[in-house]
Amino acid sequence: MDYDVIIAGAGPAGLSVGSELSKELKVLVIDKKEKISDCHRSWLVPDLCVQGGNAQEITQCAHNGVTHFLTKTFGGACVKWDALLKYYFIDEHKVLPMWGDILESNGAKILLGCLYQDSEVEQDKVIVSTSEGTFTTRLLIDASGYNSPIRKKYNIMEKGYYWWSVYGAIVEFPDGLNDMEVGDYMLWQTFKDTNAHVDTSMAHGRPVLEYEILDDKTAFVFIFYLRKNQVEKDMMHEEFDHVLRHEKSMKNYENCTIKEWKFGWYPMGGMNSQKVAEDRVTFIGDAGCWTAPCGWGFSFVVDNYKKYAANLLASINNEQFDKCHLVNLIQLSVRTKSQVLIDQITTHFLANASAPMLDKFINLFEPGGPLGDKGPLLCEKLFTLTLSDDDVKFMLKVAVKYFDLRELMHIMPHEDYFLLLEEVKEYVEAEVLDGLHELLSIFKHKKIRSVHINGFDFS
Ligand SMILES: Cc1cc2nc3c(=O)[nH]c(=O)nc-3n(C[C@H](O)[C@H](O)[C@H](O)COP(=O)(O)OP(=O)(O)OC[C@H]3O[C@@H](n4cnc5c(N)ncnc54)[C@H](O)[C@@H]3O)c2cc1C
Repeated sequence: MDYDVIIAGAGPAGLSVGSELSKELKVLVIDKKEKISDCHRSWLVPDLCVQGGNAQEITQCAHNGVTHFLTKTFGGACVKWDALLKYYFIDEHKVLPMWGDILESNGAKILLGCLYQDSEVEQDKVIVSTSEGTFTTRLLIDASGYNSPIRKKYNIMEKGYYWWSVYGAIVEFPDGLNDMEVGDYMLWQTFKDTNAHVDTSMAHGRPVLEYEILDDKTAFVFIFYLRKNQVEKDMMHEEFDHVLRHEKSMKNYENCTIKEWKFGWYPMGGMNSQKVAEDRVTFIGDAGCWTAPCGWGFSFVVDNYKKYAANLLASINNEQFDKCHLVNLIQLSVRTKSQVLIDQITTHFLANASAPMLDKFINLFEPGGPLGDKGPLLCEKLFTLTLSDDDVKFMLKVAVKYFDLRELMHIMPHEDYFLLLEEVKEYVEAEVLDGLHELLSIFKHKKIRSVHINGFDFS
């Protein structure tokens, strides 16, 4: 056997998991790119994920972090607050070589300019064909990203959720930051003329702009779409160029120069989307749909690579290479699953709501707004998957009063209910059934026959 493990893909997932496995195993990492630091992404990571993954070493590749959150829509929503949680801007060109150095110092081999072509699983090994030759291994790890050829070979499809399509650039400001400050994070900026109609939902076309001011010279600025399909790169480039160069409210970017293009696509992950494996083949990172619904796939890697590698190492040492075993190596807690579900429902809302409804959603989090002083923190906790049960109850109580339920129910397309129901099933079994039993016993004792919520009659 040539290797214990072959990893296809030297992105953050492949290199981080490989850096752990190579402490004990003979590892080969292959990637079609020419340089280990090549990367079309830029990463923001919540400290909670660094702590959760015991991955403090990546902070040596961090510079600054978010200090202010901002929003600005053409409809007039303009919410700002000082960041309450801690976040890092991770330098992608440093963190990838950092993991690569660990791999190599552990004796692993990294073969760049090497395209994965095919693989065949036999009784006790996998034969991997690449542009640089054929290798045998006990286990193949697919870390080749959102467009994985291995996932396609096994016909593993995403379940028809939404795709985040992202296009932007690292830009430099020769004349300074204008009115912006290091650490500003524009969460949500929209423009009237990037829309066929003001009421068009994101799922039907409207892009949103975000930016992060990385240091006193540089920003990462990008547009993103949230649709059922991936948006073509050329189309995104055209729209991005228009926004950056012609939108009046982007005056601060007037003289900026493009340093590096950034782009990519990822599907909205769910509670069980990471449960993919085949005999002697595992899938990690974007190839394993390790994306939270809001697309923080790098943060998911940071939070999970050490735990995942430890579980995988135990399986390899026990010769457990069957699909049924490998599929369970990532275990999300019921609490994390419920957070993912809430995030998923929010993402469905973001994709399908009209611009005025989204303005209403943004205003929900305004400091001193409908959620009171807790608004900003609840927004940060929502997107970092750290809401407590009490936070969720409080938010739901306020949201039911704040939104018209009938309006909300019309937002989501019917086919999405079924997709969500499938996800909810397991959570319902674990958590909500208890709640329902409790509710039924209250009805029984109080002999309540009907309830009215926001004009709805639940008889
Ligand atoms: C523009 C953008 C911004 C983002 N910002 C954030 C953020 O702020 N925070 C966050 O947490 N997440 C963010 N993400 C998500 C994050 O980048 C991804 O989830 C993460 O990169 C996934 O890592 P990966 O290793 O699984 O895949 P990738 O990073 O895609 O790496 C896959 C590797 O496999 C290689 N490969 C592919 N096919 C083959 C083949 N056939 N043969 C050999 N090699 C192959 C590729 O060259 C690549 O190096 C962002 C994504 C994008 C697109």
